[in-house]
Amino acid sequence: MKKVNQVLTVDGPSGAGKGTLCQALADYLGWHLLDSGAIYRVLALAALRHQIDFSMEADLIPLAIHLDVSFQSQNRCLRVILDKEDVSDKIRTELVAHSASQLASFPKVREALLKRQRAFQKAPGLIADGRDMGTLVFPDAFIKIFLHASPQERARRRMIELQKKGFNVNFSSILSKMNDRDDRDATRQIAPLLPASDALIIDSTHMPAQEVVEQVLEHAKKWL
Ligand code: C5P
Repeated sequence: MKKVNQVLTVDGPSGAGKGTLCQALADYLGWHLLDSGAIYRVLALAALRHQIDFSMEADLIPLAIHLDVSFQSQNRCLRVILDKEDVSDKIRTELVAHSASQLASFPKVREALLKRQRAFQKAPGLIADGRDMGTLVFPDAFIKIFLHASPQERARRRMIELQKKGFNVNFSSILSKMNDRDDRDATRQIAPLLPASDALIIDSTHMPAQEVVEQVLEHAKKWL
């Protein structure tokens, strides 16, 4: 059964392996890729640069509406552009992650970013990575995945990822910041981190990345 403009959503907490899975699926299927977390991170970076008070939702809205963010695919890697500047590495710091999670709890900020995320839905298909892709942004997606892993394993993966990028990091600090961020994402009033009722839930704690990709493709094959 083939559908046009297919959307496959992947939601889950930080460090569960969503990014790796989504990139592999997009490469394999030749589909577009939306990293919705990067949009929240870019907004946070812009807000930090403009010294906006993160408790003032009203001050964040115009920035969200006019945010000049785009993505460029380079060597099977997504580069993130803010106002013509490549900010791919600058948005990966703990400060930006924490700030993104703070502003992501504001309903009007989320609303301002909703249309922008939906605009990524294009033929032949879209892999959408985030927290509310299957529940709110693309509720009609034909396949929904919720990917999670134990907090220790997710913190371990995040530590390795940051070390590879040259950051000097400490496991217990990553674990505690990650737990704080996941708690905030899961308990906020709007778009909390939750599996969609029709999502396939995968625990990747003991699974190599390639096995996760194979499980998703096996699950998706009747629609592809
Ligand atoms: O996925 P990533 O870690 O880059 O996301 C950064 C933050 O952006 C998350 O902690 C979450 O608060 C927010 N976010 C969100 N909804 C999404 C994607 C990210 O609230 N769809």
